[in-house]
Amino acid sequence: NPSIPPSHDIEPLPGSEAYPSSSYTRVNATFVILCRNDQLWDTMRSVREIEDKFNHKYHYPYVFLNEVPFTEEFKYRLKTMASGKAEFGLIPRDHWFQPDWIDEAKASKSREKMQSENIIYGGSLSYRNMCRFNSGFFFRHPLMEKYKWYWRIEPDVHFHCNILFDPFRYMEENNKIYAFTISMIEYEATIPTLWGHVKDFVKKYPQYVAKNNAMGFISDDGSGDRYNLCHFWSNFEIANMEFWRGEAYMKFFEYLDSQGGFYYERWGDAPVHSIAASIFAPREQIHFFDEIGYEHAPYTHCPKEGDNWEKGKCTCRPDNNFDFDGISCLNKFQNFMKS
Ligand code: GDP
Ligand code: MN
Repeated sequence: NPSIPPSHDIEPLPGSEAYPSSSYTRVNATFVILCRNDQLWDTMRSVREIEDKFNHKYHYPYVFLNEVPFTEEFKYRLKTMASGKAEFGLIPRDHWFQPDWIDEAKASKSREKMQSENIIYGGSLSYRNMCRFNSGFFFRHPLMEKYKWYWRIEPDVHFHCNILFDPFRYMEENNKIYAFTISMIEYEATIPTLWGHVKDFVKKYPQYVAKNNAMGFISDDGSGDRYNLCHFWSNFEIANMEFWRGEAYMKFFEYLDSQGGFYYERWGDAPVHSIAASIFAPREQIHFFDEIGYEHAPYTHCPKEGDNWEKGKCTCRPDNNFDFDGISCLNKFQNFMKS
């Protein structure tokens, strides 16, 4: 809706001690929620939680995206819940559906095989569309183009603590490009050839490899010979879309997409984003938000550094923390950052 001004032009917030001052200026940022109409009530609960824990003070806008039009009820309910502007976008056909040049016989054989091996979402075509969209298209949606920063939220996630600062502003002021709360090992069967293509790409375009990158986080040999399957869990992301829109990532996405692996295998947007952030950005631009208590079933990150749990008045149990799980990569990340 072009008559709605960009977020930074919206009226200043009313002043109050408990709230950011009336002169508070939002950074150029939005929440983004990809979801289906039948996820209305799970989406309502996620928005309610982020409003209660953070956004009722800041009124950042929301962009809801869907490959079919949102229902009038969906728009009405979510507009009621959001304290910032809410916009509802239809995803362009070719940003979502399987491209014509994909060999459907080969793709469906892969789906059947992965289904029979009980690989999670192995038989699902819509899941593959979703992963490809989140890898290469959401930041190019017309409703997203005006924003620099996004915070990805999903239906049915939980925010366990008061968020007493503006994470978008933190990202901007500290020159970060990507932030996460949960990091873990990927199922190798979903990405058997991905790393080979990454290596080919890096050989072909060495100019995109950042100095002082985080390759040492995702490759235990440090040289990038083998991928250790670590990735940031992308159902939570706060990141700079200029990075995804930039030449290195666009070339990288197009290269991966042309290999067909989003359909012939089941490449997730999480490993694709994580590998790119770890290779094409300096490591200090990747950030872990310990303060943000976050749950996406079945895993929770619960704040544990300093007095973060107390300050946030968190409802998560510190001893039930994915950070300490055997398949978490947080330890590896933090050790790498110290090295
Ligand atoms: P998981 O987190 O990997 O188990 O996958 P989800 O089922 O949560 O899907 C990831 C995100 O994509 C969620 O925000 C879903 O609402 C959304 N999503 C998944 N499939 C579809 C789809 O077919 N259409 C739309 N519009 N959204 C989808
Ligand atoms: Mn999910």
